[in-house]
Amino acid sequence: MSKEQKTKKNSAASFYLRPSASSAVKSPSAVTSPLRLRLLPSAVESAIAGSSVIRKMFEQGLELKKKFGADKVYDFSIGNPDLPTPAKAAEVLRTLADHAADPMAFGYCPNAGLPAVREALAARLATEQCVGVTAQEVIVSVGAAGGLVSFFRSVLEPGDEILVPSPYFLEYRVYVGHFGGVLVPVPMAAPSFALDVAALAAKVTPKTRVILINTPNNPTGVIYSQEQLAELGRLLEKVNAGRERPVFLLSDEPYRLLAYDGITVPPVLPLSPYAVVVGSYSKSLSLAGERVGYVAVNPAMPEVGKMMAALTLMTRALGFVNAPVIGQKLVLSLLDSGVDVAVYDRRRKAMAEVLTAAGLSFAMPQGAFYFFVQAPGGDDAAFTQRLAAENILAVPGGGFGCPGYFRVAFCVDEAIIRNSAPAWRNVAQAL
Ligand code: PLP
Repeated sequence: MSKEQKTKKNSAASFYLRPSASSAVKSPSAVTSPLRLRLLPSAVESAIAGSSVIRKMFEQGLELKKKFGADKVYDFSIGNPDLPTPAKAAEVLRTLADHAADPMAFGYCPNAGLPAVREALAARLATEQCVGVTAQEVIVSVGAAGGLVSFFRSVLEPGDEILVPSPYFLEYRVYVGHFGGVLVPVPMAAPSFALDVAALAAKVTPKTRVILINTPNNPTGVIYSQEQLAELGRLLEKVNAGRERPVFLLSDEPYRLLAYDGITVPPVLPLSPYAVVVGSYSKSLSLAGERVGYVAVNPAMPEVGKMMAALTLMTRALGFVNAPVIGQKLVLSLLDSGVDVAVYDRRRKAMAEVLTAAGLSFAMPQGAFYFFVQAPGGDDAAFTQRLAAENILAVPGGGFGCPGYFRVAFCVDEAIIRNSAPAWRNVAQAL
């Protein structure tokens, strides 16, 4: 064994075997510079650090609830839909239970989803998106999240850029980062955060591969208008003329059915042959834990069959294999129903009253279940800490790429919203 090999062996032993002081391996390098364990790649370490805001908030919420009681903590941090799933779900589950002993009752299903579910989704999406989409252009995904990741895996090469209006859903950075994609946030103007197509156009480069929009938006609640979307369609047409690797328009729409004041979310699929829509029933059916979503592709996309093959393959290759079968059957039976959006609307109005009474500035959300509120003084982290001191939990805007604001989720009981009013006022008065 060479001297170098011996030194390596000794220093490794000193690390893994943790010898006692008396039996310590006599390697000077082991004493002066102990090995630093690198359990995880640095990219994973920084992704964990980046995602710790919501996790810390969640833990803080649990602590506070233990200490003060659940009804004394105003937890507006998490977008976990709390309205009951439509009552018919119980009936569907009972029927499934009756057939639980059938062979293959819960076996694997085709990677792209149960054929009946794809058919039903296609019929629904053809109406919603105003494009003659068929089951061939729809796959059932593991929630919208699984659909986004399968899509990014299908189209991204390392260094590809994904333009996204900012503020944006904080998981996007991680989703694209898995495949070497680079998220390019493009700031939208406060207070409305409406879609600024010129700002997006200014950021298009030869590396741009996807323009990613989210309407209704998390965290701002804005719904992009028909006119703004039509302008975006024109940008796509211009950018894609003569381009070998087209720029896709990807619309993330898990909140499509949560819109207020009579607004219908305009369709996105007709805007470009390269348009793709991802959605789910996590929010509109309160089925978030069942993990059922979809990816729908404009049938006019050149080589659309290749795209569908890629999405199907990636559902398998990323280890999802198929969306949960019980969830798919629930969605199939509940597709014509939905949670009571009027309840969310009442909470939205209650929250607007509470925030206004505390003197805070915000644009009224048109959809989803979030307010994006200006942090007085401009320091969102400091302000949300002040709120936490009054048992109010909200998420700083920095995590959404927009410091100076904070997000308030209103998928909590209206009584909690109304009871939080004095706590908001205390924070406002202290300023
Ligand atoms: N996209 C946005 C904007 C979201 O807010 C969420 C969940 O909160 C998702 C995607 C993921 O949704 P799903 O539960 O359908 O995976």
